[in-house]
Amino acid sequence: MTQLWNLAEVAGRDRAEEARQRELDHLLERLYPMCRSLTGEGVRETLRVLQEKLPIEIKEVPSGTSVLDWEVPPEWRVREAWIKDPSGNVIVDFCEHNLHLLGYSAPFSGTVSLTELDDHLYSDPARPSDIPYRTSYYAERWGFCLAHDLRERLTPGDYEVRVDTTLEPGALTYGEFVVPGQTDREVLVSSHVCHPSLANDNLSGIVVAAELAHRLHALGSEHLRHSYRFLWAPGTLGAITWLALNRERVGRITHGLVAANLGDPGGFHYKRSRQGEAAIDRAVVLAARDSEVDVEIEDFVPFGYDERQYCSPGFDLPVGSLTRTPWGRYPEYHTSADDLSLVSSQRLLDSVQLYLRTFAVLEADRQYRNLEPHGEPQLGRRGLYRTLGGEGAKERELAILWVLNQSDGTRSLMDIAERSGLSVAVLDEAARALVKARLLE
Ligand code: ZN
Repeated sequence: MTQLWNLAEVAGRDRAEEARQRELDHLLERLYPMCRSLTGEGVRETLRVLQEKLPIEIKEVPSGTSVLDWEVPPEWRVREAWIKDPSGNVIVDFCEHNLHLLGYSAPFSGTVSLTELDDHLYSDPARPSDIPYRTSYYAERWGFCLAHDLRERLTPGDYEVRVDTTLEPGALTYGEFVVPGQTDREVLVSSHVCHPSLANDNLSGIVVAAELAHRLHALGSEHLRHSYRFLWAPGTLGAITWLALNRERVGRITHGLVAANLGDPGGFHYKRSRQGEAAIDRAVVLAARDSEVDVEIEDFVPFGYDERQYCSPGFDLPVGSLTRTPWGRYPEYHTSADDLSLVSSQRLLDSVQLYLRTFAVLEADRQYRNLEPHGEPQLGRRGLYRTLGGEGAKERELAILWVLNQSDGTRSLMDIAERSGLSVAVLDEAARALVKARLLE
């Protein structure tokens, strides 16, 4: 077993893991209240907290910078935002829940009638007690989001409104961290960091990516063939900015996953890359099959998270999206009900485990060549036949025969795993034993 297989096996499964789980809970609680957005302090604070466990690089790209077909917008900062009813009671307050303020609200201060105010209110009659999450990144307006129940109780009169925000030149902030491996072929893990107090959409992906980075970093470069690049960037524009600034090195990305929605009670879901049959698309399926985890598979569609950018035709990177319930398909999605009660640290660790198993498959996937391809080599003489008693001995024998038979230099371990039905871990072990016995190179 290589180190990475072991790492994947223990994730979420032993004593030390209980401590990790508590740490994750603590991290979720700290990050949940921060007002993340496309730009601004919330993203910086989030990344600074992650820096406590990892030396993440925080990058600042100035407002006005051209990035592909886009431009980095002014930075948004919030001091306060509230509405007072005609009797002077604060009825909606950003301090109480950051979802109350329409994301990227322009500043406003004044007294308005209920009719006028109503044009600036957002609520969802289908979920009357939840605050919806809304933004207005590219059209300048102010607004508040509130429970529909509350909105219906508002009576005519004068409402005092304060939106103390600024939209001024600043920067777009993103975080990047690389665990170097023995080659510069990269595995990209990307998660969006632009959502405020939403636990599953956004925060679960941020935390799972940080946990993966932490574990691979601790494992050490000598145990990794690929380099692992982690990106915490605002959705859409963050990925576009990173692609624009890294055009010359984008080709190094050999496999990639967009991490989001990884803490809810739903089963796993994988959306294939645009390429559809890329190694990453097959690796996720094999990792799930080998660990008997159900993953619903869906073909690529050009909407969703930042796979849209990585899989745009000019880049066409092999990047899929491994989530639990996909965006928009759970009732709490983009509402205040997507809170910490929707995610559990055990489910986050199970997600970490499936990611690690996928990485282990990618690491193991090589093409070998049988050095004694004429007839079956004598395994007994080389200590490979029936010497591997104990549990799984039969499977290991089969793995040796499959690897010897298929390794003509054109088929990789993933090909053999798909054809034989044997696990990649067992085939990897067999291949290593055969290399040691000088039957394989
Ligand atoms: Zn979202």
